[in-house]
Amino acid sequence: MSHALGMNSQSAMTSPPVTISPPVTISPSAAPSPQATNPPTTCRLCGATRIRCLGTVPDSDYFAGRVLPQPIAGGRLWRCEACASMFRHPILTDSAYLALYAQGAADEWQADEGRQDLSIIRKMIVAAGVGAEIAVGFGIGVGAGAAVGTVPARVLDVGCGSGDFLLSLPAEVAKFGVEPSVAAAAAATHRGVSIAAPTLEDLPATGGFDVITMIDVIEHVALPQKLLDAALPHLSPGGRLIIATGDPGHTLWRRVFRSRFWYSSFPEHISFPSLVFFNLWQRNKGLQTPTAIQLQYRRLPLITRSLHFVSQLVFLASPALLNTVARGIDAFRRTSRHTPRPRRFFSPGAPGVFTDHQIVVIRRPP
Ligand SMILES: [Zn+2]
Repeated sequence: MSHALGMNSQSAMTSPPVTISPPVTISPSAAPSPQATNPPTTCRLCGATRIRCLGTVPDSDYFAGRVLPQPIAGGRLWRCEACASMFRHPILTDSAYLALYAQGAADEWQADEGRQDLSIIRKMIVAAGVGAEIAVGFGIGVGAGAAVGTVPARVLDVGCGSGDFLLSLPAEVAKFGVEPSVAAAAAATHRGVSIAAPTLEDLPATGGFDVITMIDVIEHVALPQKLLDAALPHLSPGGRLIIATGDPGHTLWRRVFRSRFWYSSFPEHISFPSLVFFNLWQRNKGLQTPTAIQLQYRRLPLITRSLHFVSQLVFLASPALLNTVARGIDAFRRTSRHTPRPRRFFSPGAPGVFTDHQIVVIRRPP
């Protein structure tokens, strides 16, 4: 997702332990249920009981590209000692998140320049399913046995937005998307993407896909296993499930920045599945062992990386200090463009500083 750069995200004063200030801006159903405010007893991803609190996540008043009238409490970041995943708790209800996404800025989730994950996934898709002539065009080495002009791959992008990533694939690839936003789905359709359904749950069993991508999606759902379960029936024999998300195994996140890491400070990010989690999920499903590569989210100039690193350090030391500085910068910027309301809470957007992302590939045997 394009959270933009610099101190463009939320943060703030730490909230009281395990309380959540009701987000006044959204309907009463947005408030978490009473039991959800208690500390968790198990890992939300794998169910293990060995979990550890990594601290309080600073509050935020910025969600899906929109400044909220009132902040959403950050809750706390938890780490599972069994599966090494992380998760935020408490979180809002599904309906509250849906309402917040529905009110989000229309262009929030556009594909970005300099994204490393997108170019790698593009190469994976081309190498996996399309003929060698196209693969050569993308600068990918293809084995001597690779067929030329084989049957085009059918690719399904879950959360495809207006179709930017799909449209970056070769013309021979049949492009399908799942997208809940009506406006984004309409834009994708207009551009030639077949919107198969608003969500995976609504997707009819109309034949499998050679590749199903989930790019910057799984960290937004409360139950990643449910999302994967919904995708699996649609994966063809030999097909690949490709998931791009944050890597909770990143040492600095886990040991140093903890609940004040830039990636987990976005209020939209609530679940951080590890490679161990993906391994646990795929057991007894007849799939191949998942593989993962770690990468930086974006390739950025050194000066930009340095500034982001400094803002990450300030956020670690004092979210209140970062807010003070960023409010000043924000006020200066807002004099030159229309923004409906000033932000009060910030966090460091640091998408190209650390090797804190992963691409997980899970293959169904041919
Ligand atoms: Zn776990």
